[in-house]
Amino acid sequence: MLQAQKILKKYYGYETFREGQEKIIKSILDGKDTFAIMPTGAGKSICFQIPSLLLDGLTLVISPLISLMKDQVDALKGNGIKATYINSSLTAREVRERIENAKNGVYTLLYVAPERLESEGFCHLLKNLQISLVAVDEAHCVSQWGHDFRPSYGRIAPFIKTLSHRPIVTAFTATATKEVKEDIINLLGFESPSIYVTGFDRKNLSFSVMRGANKKDFILDYVKYNKDEVGIIYAATRKEVENIYENLRKKGYAVGKYHAGLSGDERKERQEAFIYDDIHIMVATNAFGMGIDKSNVRYVIHYNIPKNMEAYYQEAGRAGRDGEASQCILLFSPQDVLLQKYLIEQNNLSEEREKNEYRKLQEMVDYCHTSKCLRKYILEYFGEEKVGDTCHNCSNCKDDSELMDRTIEAQKIFSCIYRMKEKYGTSLVAQVLRGSKNKKVLGFGFHGLSTYGIMKEYTEKEIKDMMNILIAEGYLHLTEGQYPVVRLGKKSVGVLKNKEKVLQKIQKRKEEVIIDHSLFEVLRKLRKEISTREKVPPYIVFSDSTLRQMSEYYPIDEEAMLRIKGVGEEKLKKYGDEFLRIIKSYVKENHIEDVKTYTKENIKETKDEKVPSHVVTFNLYKEGNSLKEIALTREMTPFTIQNHIIRCATEGLPVDLDDFIPKEYEALIIQTIKSIGAEKLKPIKEALPKEVDYLAIKAVLCKYNS
Ligand code: ADP
Repeated sequence: MLQAQKILKKYYGYETFREGQEKIIKSILDGKDTFAIMPTGAGKSICFQIPSLLLDGLTLVISPLISLMKDQVDALKGNGIKATYINSSLTAREVRERIENAKNGVYTLLYVAPERLESEGFCHLLKNLQISLVAVDEAHCVSQWGHDFRPSYGRIAPFIKTLSHRPIVTAFTATATKEVKEDIINLLGFESPSIYVTGFDRKNLSFSVMRGANKKDFILDYVKYNKDEVGIIYAATRKEVENIYENLRKKGYAVGKYHAGLSGDERKERQEAFIYDDIHIMVATNAFGMGIDKSNVRYVIHYNIPKNMEAYYQEAGRAGRDGEASQCILLFSPQDVLLQKYLIEQNNLSEEREKNEYRKLQEMVDYCHTSKCLRKYILEYFGEEKVGDTCHNCSNCKDDSELMDRTIEAQKIFSCIYRMKEKYGTSLVAQVLRGSKNKKVLGFGFHGLSTYGIMKEYTEKEIKDMMNILIAEGYLHLTEGQYPVVRLGKKSVGVLKNKEKVLQKIQKRKEEVIIDHSLFEVLRKLRKEISTREKVPPYIVFSDSTLRQMSEYYPIDEEAMLRIKGVGEEKLKKYGDEFLRIIKSYVKENHIEDVKTYTKENIKETKDEKVPSHVVTFNLYKEGNSLKEIALTREMTPFTIQNHIIRCATEGLPVDLDDFIPKEYEALIIQTIKSIGAEKLKPIKEALPKEVDYLAIKAVLCKYNS
């Protein structure tokens, strides 16, 4: 295994294996058929790529998507590993050439699409190669129970049988349901396989559910405050995708759309633009994503509830593959559940499977309503036991919303609905409450109701937003059909009788706080230049987490650079000089004197990227260490540690900002920010007395912004 460890470092630039990887690699190297179930982003590829480098002969990878193949092969080549692919994008001549090369031992890995195995001729060509390992990626495609069934996966087992020397057979998937697991084991021609199921937890992902929020406003607000970040917004229908896309496009965002109604070329072009960071936001149906290995997706928002937890976790899991903190947000509204039910009905499934689908949908709805830790809910759903009760990183554990008493408003709404005999939709109810004089309201004689005009102080939209939250929380129901009518739910009775209160969560508005990301931004720009020059996606040059580490540790020589996660020998050779040059000049310009600390050996802790770096800092802070002490222990600059703490505070973790603000200067700092503006820190700092440090300014900004 020492060899495997060395390869991990040399080619991938990673110090330690992630959970499960080592055992899986060992099992393969021991010659055993191996089946691994790991969540999206956990690092499956390395599990077959490292053995491929240690075994004699060729590793054949069966991979379902052309884009995925190209991506993986690009990434491998970038790391100095010899790989190629064969799929329908090549000419017959290119195919022959690659086979010939493979015969001559030019490649370590050969990726092929499963459909290729349907051609006898092609299988015949493969038989002449010395295949020592077969890796079936996305193995759930073999199962009809899975969500991406591919009939040609059924050809894999017969093909393996025809080989004169039986290779080690391995399979990888993120799908853990019982039926799919059984199918994979039965249909891939395994011989007593070792099975590994790693934990499903993705600690760097933070999960949130928003019930009844005004989705359009939410999205506009969210992208505004995350405008430099890359994200995916999933919606349930093409129409919805088009609407969201238009809204964002009109506001000038670099946004793309993707759904099955677009031509193949259009889809391909959008996908490329997203992969190359030319488009920052992708609005898409669930047709998008499989085969997207893009590691720097910082958020995934579900505009509508997906059909089940498997689909949700797979889609949400596309965030944060690089291990950096990322957000997964689900916007819940009960109307969307009706759409999913309709889709189930349309499928003409057998009674048993239809029941199964309904049950799964209900479990998804329950996720949206649970008050326990969302992570715990997810992990228990996937069969994990002994999950901790709080994760400190989901909307239920990290509740940074305020509770507002909405009882009076709710009572007004309920009694108006009651007086309108529960026969109308939300718009008309809102108009009556506002006291609208429109034809419909007057025509029905609603201006005579005692509830007419009792909510004049709100706009129609505000009243409707409130009603939507009341619907999402189960106080009100909407009927099905084209013109849904709003009715009182059981829960409303207690409120009308003044026995129960309605408390609504109001999300505290998060303002942008200037945290110094300037080096990260400079590095990101350099990465984009290299990406354009070399025609490989930016995240294949270096992942966000690699750039993030560079901007926290300031490596200024090759030795230090090699310690950065994701910098292997090949990458150092290719890009080391360019990055070192930029970091050196940054360090010089900004007078960051203490970078030399980094050349010491102790950075293992941050290599374990499962817990985001700023949270590691937070935990030390919670234990009572001063920022200086933390900087020393973590061998990071105090500057970096300060940024961590401010970031924690913005994210709602309990940080006492007053600790960092000298009382006697607080008023002055506020005044200075008001007069100069908060765009840049430097002018604020310069206008203040010397003893006020950057941290104090950032803390004030943070304190008064949230
Ligand atoms: P999966 O196929 O399981 O969804 P990938 O194989 O694409 O995941 O890996 C996800 C990301 O994690 C990639 O960017 C990969 O380089 C990174 N990764 C894999 N193993 C490690 C490791 N041991 N240390 C750090 N990063 C890793």
